[in-house]
Amino acid sequence: LLAADGSIAATIFAEMSALAIKTGAINLGQGFPDEDGPAEVLEAAAEAIRAGINQYPPGTGIPQLRNAVAEHQRRFYGLDYNPDREVLITAGATEALAATVLALVEPGDEVVTFEPFYDEYGALIGLAGGRHVPVTLQAPDFAPDLDQLSRAVTDKTKIIIVNNPHNPTGATFDDETLRTIVELANRHDAYIVTDEVYEHLRFETPHTPIASFDGASDRTISISSGGKTFSTTGWKIGWITARPALITAILAVKQFLTYVNGAPFQPAMAVGLALPDSFFTGIAETLKAKRDLLSAGLRSAGFEVFPSRGSYFLVADVSPLGFPDAVEFCRQLPDRAGVVAIPLSAFYTEANRGQARSLVRFAFCKREEVLERAAEQLARLSA
Ligand code: PMP
Ligand code: GLN
Repeated sequence: LLAADGSIAATIFAEMSALAIKTGAINLGQGFPDEDGPAEVLEAAAEAIRAGINQYPPGTGIPQLRNAVAEHQRRFYGLDYNPDREVLITAGATEALAATVLALVEPGDEVVTFEPFYDEYGALIGLAGGRHVPVTLQAPDFAPDLDQLSRAVTDKTKIIIVNNPHNPTGATFDDETLRTIVELANRHDAYIVTDEVYEHLRFETPHTPIASFDGASDRTISISSGGKTFSTTGWKIGWITARPALITAILAVKQFLTYVNGAPFQPAMAVGLALPDSFFTGIAETLKAKRDLLSAGLRSAGFEVFPSRGSYFLVADVSPLGFPDAVEFCRQLPDRAGVVAIPLSAFYTEANRGQARSLVRFAFCKREEVLERAAEQLARLSA
């Protein structure tokens, strides 16, 4: 995790947001919305602060939020979790992932991920002393090759980390893929850790959590958070649903990572999770329109754009514009077009980085006028 000179290597997101601030460019790099989420949720946090909910909450999270998480899993997916024993509130999905990987992975254990992968997975596997076994997804649809997946999962596999919808590609895994993952986990006695922070940001088909497949519930740790759904990425309220023994093991680690977090934001998240269905369908529709706007803008600017079926992100190929190298392209982009984007290679292991040579990730979770301006500016590249 250290750079060659001994300083810490900033994450690609921090580096690119700093570049956007320095150059004044439009930030389509780091995925965070530029508008506030539902007023009821914001007001509930303000009200909680005024009501004195400002000290340590319980270690597993406040009962009101644990109940709301369990009720959300029941309402949307028909999944049954006991709010007292099978739900754990965390400091965002980030801490949920960290506590889970640190609790389950022993030095030498193998962890399978789908590459490109959210950067935290690689770092956590390294911190736990595990061995990272990536299964590489290929454009245009970034669906895993099931034979390759079957070869990657062995008796040495401790965890398969699933991320559906998938950051950075916007892919969603189909039922056959999810079923295969569950079968492999059962065959090789592995856990499934599923990161579903974009569960409500799907544009084509409804979300099916992997925990709902036959044979999954006892070995699956499901992770989500309120950051994306309620446009509150800075609040860092996440949650885990899993069987009691797994929650206990993860809590043992979590208590020494943050102990607890976000007292006034916890009741506000409970308000959010109880919003009517129309809120959840509404955010997906709004984001789908943004995806379409940016996709069309990039296509008319000469990019090849791959389909995004969920998340905040899409992947585009810059080679039709005459740029063979996406890292160099992203370096020049603020000056040439006033836009920041992230080279997809940032989400690969060193060995496989070459597979993403000309690919770039764009975030479209921005106001329409911002996306329109970005598209106009990107059109200069081919002018
Ligand atoms: N997983 C994925 C795939 C993400 O994109 C993010 C968002 N940054 C996280 C986890 C972290 O979520 P949180 O902000 O809730 O910690
Ligand atoms: N999830 C966001 C992204 O992928 C931001 C993550 C971060 O800043 N750590 O852009």
